[in-house]
Amino acid sequence: MSEPPEACDVVVVGAGFAGLYAIHRLTSLGYRVIAFEKGDDVGGVWYWNRYPGARCDCESYYYSYSFSNELQQAWDWSLRYSEQPEILGYLRHVADRFDLKRHIRFGAPVTRAEFDEQSATWRVTAADGRSAEGQFLVTAAGCLSQIQRPDIPGLDTFEGRVFWTAAWPKEPVDFTGRRVGVIGTGASGVQAIPRIAAQARHLTVFQRTANWVLPARNARTAAEFNAWVKANYGEIRDKCLNSPGAVPFEGATRSAFDVTDEERRAVYERLWGIGGMRFFSAFTDLFTNPAANETAQAFVRDHIRAVVRDPIVAGGLIPKDQPIGVKRPPVDDDYYETFNRDNVELVDVRAWPITGVEGHSVITPEAVHELDDLVLATGFDAMTGALLAMDIRGRGRARLAEHWSQGPQSYLGLAVAGFPNLFTITGPLSPSVLANMPTAVEQHVDWIAGCIGHMRREGLRAIEADEGAEQAWVDHAAEVVSHTLYPRSNSWYFGSNIPGKPRRFGVYVGGFSNYRKQCEAVAQRGYEGFRFVGGIGRERAESVD
Ligand code: FAD
Ligand code: NAP
Repeated sequence: MSEPPEACDVVVVGAGFAGLYAIHRLTSLGYRVIAFEKGDDVGGVWYWNRYPGARCDCESYYYSYSFSNELQQAWDWSLRYSEQPEILGYLRHVADRFDLKRHIRFGAPVTRAEFDEQSATWRVTAADGRSAEGQFLVTAAGCLSQIQRPDIPGLDTFEGRVFWTAAWPKEPVDFTGRRVGVIGTGASGVQAIPRIAAQARHLTVFQRTANWVLPARNARTAAEFNAWVKANYGEIRDKCLNSPGAVPFEGATRSAFDVTDEERRAVYERLWGIGGMRFFSAFTDLFTNPAANETAQAFVRDHIRAVVRDPIVAGGLIPKDQPIGVKRPPVDDDYYETFNRDNVELVDVRAWPITGVEGHSVITPEAVHELDDLVLATGFDAMTGALLAMDIRGRGRARLAEHWSQGPQSYLGLAVAGFPNLFTITGPLSPSVLANMPTAVEQHVDWIAGCIGHMRREGLRAIEADEGAEQAWVDHAAEVVSHTLYPRSNSWYFGSNIPGKPRRFGVYVGGFSNYRKQCEAVAQRGYEGFRFVGGIGRERAESVD
């Protein structure tokens, strides 16, 4: 028989960057929190993605929490872009430092969450029957945490070893002397390929869509830089809060056509030398004007041709008909050079799609590739996958999956009409993955904590996004993205990587700082666009909207 539900104020799902901060913030305010985590430790993305080369593509000094000055003064990052073990170590440190693990139930994938209208509480149940009941449900289940398994006939029957980048074993994997195949050339594949190539006897890269890859220029952080960061953290975090990407850099001020060809090239050269996503701070119109974007593409095309010796391979690595930046560009230092190695082969599975896996072979219409190991870097059911993997039921037992059958519907990416007292950290239609995520996570958690505090002070038992406000936000998000080049690609931002998934852009592209101000304004105007239900104390009106 299953245990009775644990009673609390807030149930949290997930213990990555978002869940950990939610637990910390809410328990610090005196709320009882129970969190469920599928993994057996904290870390989220950094717990699961242990593949060789896994690291952040936002620089570590700002891809980190800002909520505790003691924490940011105590922690030293060893690399400009830290690798997975160090980021996981950081999140473990946070969990221990703030004593968060006692609130988390590990090895507990949530399968069901139901709102009870009578009591205005959520009952949340994990696969093994453990459950909790609380007034609020806060999901921190991750935008990129639900693995997408490609529909490749016979994949499960592969007779060699199979590895998923997003569920990599904890023990080290040795590829020495082996014939390895990697399927997928998104950010995960691009980071893993150079490392695997350096070890394997032979590496076959199965590429369906070429990606624009930016240089990382990763390097050890100098002690002086760490000292400068610590002395200036206030200003750095402030810049993050006030920038479109939640990063501490100035944006562009000029169009790509405000300068001469030589000046434009010099701007690209300089940013290419700096490395990372800074490349996109070159000009204001890279994401809105196809001709401006083409100038950046031309620059990177030249770079690929200059680095990759075999012109046919170089041609294969150059993206076709895809503006730069509209699919998340991978960031790596050795990717293009890796294709100059004798033991690396690029296979075009756009022209020759994989038809199946048999025994030790991956088969395409053109060839049979004999492999010892297969690495799947084939991505995620992003933005909605982890939420819909749970059977979430709102008012009248309505299913979230039903509400989202035409694509995600959300007010501010934080709340869903028909699902009272549910908050989604970095939910669909918030800036989430187009912002530096720890900053985005902190902003959401702080807003949610403020809202819960407001409800407690006012004796309100339930809050729900208004259907009209939700639809207006969905329309606004769609309108903003329609003025950009994002719709010119098939990306996971749209759900295009999942067969049958409704095509709706899942991220708010209006910019993080602008979004943050909109959230603040909503709260200041008495949570405009939300309905409240009173009920704690007779003096409160039933509805206060
Ligand atoms: P996650 O870290 O995904 O954590 C979600 C947690 O919820 C997981 O532990 C998962 O096990 C748990 N969970 C999910 N469903 C359930 C369930 N039903 N029951 C119980 N538990 C559940 N973003 C950046 O801004 N910069 C970067 O450099 C960057 N690098 C990245 C690198 C990789 C390899 C990947 C995959 C993503 C990267 N991201 C990056 C995006 C990343 O999603 C965020 O930075 C951040 O890790 C999100 O934290 P989170 O807590 O919201 O989600
Ligand atoms: P992804 O970007 O979705 O890439 C998946 C790759 O697998 C694509 O190349 C895709 O090709 C290919 N693929 C899928 N199914 C296939 C099939 N049946 N046959 C052949 N190829 C197939 O996933 P990801 O690389 O895991 O990255 C997801 C996101 O996570 C990133 O965009 C980024 O936001 C984040 N991430 C960040 C970092 C970092 O540097 N910090 C590292 C890893 C991940 P198509 O493009 O043709 O679909």
